[in-house]
Order: sequence, then structure tokens, then C-alpha cells
Amino acid sequence: MRSFSARAFLEKTRDKRRLDREEVQFLIKAYVEGTFSDYHLSAWLMAVYLNGLSRDETVWLTAAMRDSGVKVPRDRSASSAFWIDKHSTGGVGDKTSLILVPLVATVCEKILGADSVRIPMVSGRGLGYTGGTLDKLESVPGFSASLTMEAAMQALRENHYFMMGQTAELVPADRKLYALRDCTATIESIPLIVASILSKKLAENLDGLVIDLKWGSGAFMHKPEQGRELGEMLVGVARESGVDAVAVLTRMDEPLGYCAGHSLEVEECFQYIRDERREPGLDKVTLALAAWMVSLCSRRKLSVEAATEACVEALGTPALEAQFVRMFTAQGGDWKSFAEGRESAKRGLHVLEYKAANSGSLSKLDAGQMGRLLWEIGAGRDRVDAKIDLEVGLEFHKKVGASVKKGEPLVSVYHRDADSAAMEARLASAIEISETAVGGPTWLSEVIDE
Ligand code: URA
Repeated sequence: MRSFSARAFLEKTRDKRRLDREEVQFLIKAYVEGTFSDYHLSAWLMAVYLNGLSRDETVWLTAAMRDSGVKVPRDRSASSAFWIDKHSTGGVGDKTSLILVPLVATVCEKILGADSVRIPMVSGRGLGYTGGTLDKLESVPGFSASLTMEAAMQALRENHYFMMGQTAELVPADRKLYALRDCTATIESIPLIVASILSKKLAENLDGLVIDLKWGSGAFMHKPEQGRELGEMLVGVARESGVDAVAVLTRMDEPLGYCAGHSLEVEECFQYIRDERREPGLDKVTLALAAWMVSLCSRRKLSVEAATEACVEALGTPALEAQFVRMFTAQGGDWKSFAEGRESAKRGLHVLEYKAANSGSLSKLDAGQMGRLLWEIGAGRDRVDAKIDLEVGLEFHKKVGASVKKGEPLVSVYHRDADSAAMEARLASAIEISETAVGGPTWLSEVIDE
């Protein structure tokens, strides 16, 4: 490999001249190995933030970051199964991964064959007011997301999926760069976000990826244009990297589902899997993502419509329920004690019932405000290592578009000892009731598939 000075990179990106593949590889390697320092990379990140990167540079940056550590091992000659995962930009009450893993595994095994799918899911924890998949899984006692790569591979062989946290060995370049971006005000850069998300997904050795891009008051993107720009770049770079990708733009103006809060969401997912209670928004988003995942797994031979039907048919079946429970027990989770302990866990909490101040049509249930409330009652963290309360949470008795009567309960807050007046004030600012009827939200706003 050629050798370069850090200054040469800074000058090029500062002056909007393009780096070549070898230069991008060198830059990342030199930073991970410590030859280039934080101050070099800080300046380079700001130049990228201001001037952007070309599509090619972003593809090379993604590959260089992916190659900075170990990858999920894959022997392509041993199985022709399709390796797939999903990524969500995160929102309040976003619990779809917990449904998608067992649902996609069950449907693919039924209609595409016993050896048709692998879901090697590396997930994150909640930060700020959006919840994390791993925290939700860990509300089942004993569940461990800290798998060694050997244990993860064994789970992949036996169950065809695993759900684990990021390790120090997987994509160390992202860990280092993300921390630097965080303190240099360079998080909000599309090429840097794309390389960060995709380097971790590509390290899973995937064939396909479905991306849920959330926009609205409870998402980090507030406008659909931002979602579209990010989605087009994610899909384009993933495809140039050899992964068939699709992005679905979904709304996050009100929380997804009837519950937000870790163990409440696990319980809601179980009800969904058993086809006992399917909140319409959660249903639309989950089925759209599941159907795309199944269609990609069929190498696009199965239409999204046919895949949707197959997913709906699987709901409520004993096979899917068993798969859902296995998702926890395979990684040490004691499902029986979780299921049996739910009522007593709830009895240990205080409940604040927030009631409708007048009759009408529920026109606002602001996801951003609900996320802040969750954080205030202890369900959210502001530092990666902060401890959170997995039992507290919110239950929404009405969703936007529902007609409500004065005095009817709208939201139950399950909390430990939070300040009732502050919670009431937060809820009052999050909720609006209109005198005229309003429709429910359009949950799916666009699919990016080109
Ligand atoms: N998620 C990531 O993993 N990285 C980003 O830069 C933004 C969101």
C-alpha cells in the first residue's frame, strides 16, 4: 500500500477533491492503528460534514470500516441460505425486531425450505429516548446479548438466528469514529451515517438488508426529505457493496403499538405473535418489513404481496409462538418466569391513569414527548453505560384517529415514584383532542427500491 500524509487527506477533502479507494483504506487503517491522531480525523470529519463524500468514497469508506475488525464467519459452500437483517433508525415503541426475527424465520422455513434463511442480528441499546432491541430482550430474566462469536455461530446453526450486541472486535473503526463524531458535532452527515450503519451490517456477511427509516416527531429525522436522501444513499451503497437492500420510510409521530417500555413491549409482541392484539400501526410497519425480508430471502421470486399473505397466515400458529419463545430461551432467557411474573411485576409499580379532558377525536399523541416521559420515569439512558428500569413504561388505550369520551383513560403510566404533576404536564403537552374527526396516521410513506 502507498503511504500518505494525513495533511494530504485533509487538503483534498477540504478542497472538494476526491480520495481514491487506496487513500480511503489507508486513512481508516492509520486511524484504527493510531498512526493518524484524533485531531487529524476531527478535521477530516468536519471537512466531510461540510463538503460531503462522493458515492464511490462512501462505498470505500464503508468497506474500509467493515474490514477494520472481525466479521461474522460464513462458509458459503456449506449452505445456500440467504443471510438477512433489518436496520431501524429508531423510534418510540419500536419493537418490530422482536417480531420480525421469529416471523421471518418461521415463514421462510415453511415456504422457502428448512435451510433457506439466516438472521445474524447485531443490535444496539437504547440511547436518548429511543428504545433498544437488546434492552427489550434482556427484560426476560437470564437472556444474554453478550455472545462470543462461537456461541453466536452455534445459535445460527441451531436456530438460524442470533441477537447480540456489538463487540469490541466487530467494526472497531466505527466505535472510534462514532465517539469522535459525537464530540466534534459531525454526527449529522449522510455519508458518515451511511458508512457507520452499513459497515456494521456488512460485517454480518449479509445477502439482504431491509431498512426502516423513521421520520416524524419521535425520530431523529423530522422531515420525509431527510429520510428519502438517507434511504437512497443507504440502498445505493449497500447494493454497490453486494447486498440487496430496500428502505421503507415509516412515520414516527405517535409511538408504535399500544405500549412503550421494555417488558411491556415484549408482552405486546407476544400478543401480536399469538394474533391476540395487533395495533394497526405496529401491524402495518411489521408486515411491510417482514414481507420485504421474506421476498428478498426468496431472491425476489416471491412478490411482496404473497410474502405479506404468508406472514399474516403464520400469526397465531403454534410454530410461530414456539419460535418466539425460542428466541429468548436459546440465549438463556427464562420465558416461563417472565410470563408468570408479569402480573406481580406490574403490581409492584404505581399507575397514573391519564384521562381525556373532553370528548372528540384523538388528534395528537406526540412520540417525541412520550419518549421524553419514558426517559423521565427511568426507561431511557443518556450514557451508554447507564442502568435503566426495564419494567416501567406507558400503555396507550387510544391511538390517533380514535374517538374518545371525556373521562376515558388515554394513557397508563407504570412508574416507581415519579412526580405525578410533572407526568401530567408532560402528557397534557403531548396529547390533543379535536372536536372534528381526524383520520389515523399513514404509517408507510414510501419504499426505496432502486
Ligand atoms: N446509527 C449508526 O449506527 N450510526 C450513525 O451514524 C447513526 C445512526
